[in-house]
Amino acid sequence: MNLPFTYCPGCAAPLALITQSEDGGDKARLRCPACGFTHWNNPTPVLAAVIEYEGKILLARNAAWTTRMFGLITGFMEAGDTPDGGMVREIREETSLATSALTLIGVYDFQRMNQVIIAYHAACHGEVRLSPELSDYRLFAPEAVKCWRAGTGQALADWLQARGYTPQYGDFSKREP
Ligand SMILES: [Zn+2]
Repeated sequence: MNLPFTYCPGCAAPLALITQSEDGGDKARLRCPACGFTHWNNPTPVLAAVIEYEGKILLARNAAWTTRMFGLITGFMEAGDTPDGGMVREIREETSLATSALTLIGVYDFQRMNQVIIAYHAACHGEVRLSPELSDYRLFAPEAVKCWRAGTGQALADWLQARGYTPQYGDFSKREP
C-alpha cells in the first residue's frame, strides 16, 4: 500500500502540490515549499517467482488474502540485494526451498500498486515449509494451471507459452497480485 506523503521527510514542513519545470516539461508533484524536496513516487520493484518443483508449478496463497486464490511467490528487494539474489532469498524465506536455476521471464507493470514486477522462473528443490505470510500452497501441472489478468499472471502465461503450453485463464474477478 502506498500511503500518501503528508510531511517533508527532510524538514517536516507540510508538502504541497507544486508545479515545476522538469526534463519532461511542467509537472505537478508533492514537493516541499521550504527545502525543495520532491516526492517522486517512483514504482517499487517487486520480485516474483514461477516456481517449478517436482515437475509442477508451485502457487501459494497469501495469508492476508480473503479469496481462495493462489499466486506466485513475491517479495520486495532489500537494500544490498541483486535481483537474482533477492529472488533466491525470498523463495527460501517463504517456502524453505533451495533454487538450483533462475531465469528471468520478463518485467511487468502493476500500476494499481505503483510497482514493477521482475518475474523469474525458478527451478527449486527441498522440502516445502511455508512462512507465516503464506497459508497454503498447491502444485499444478503446467498444462492445467490457470493464469490470471495481472502482471504476475502474465509472467506465468509467458513462461508457459515459451515452454510450448497454451496459457489458460481462470475467471478470477478479484485477483491479488
Ligand atoms: Zn522540506
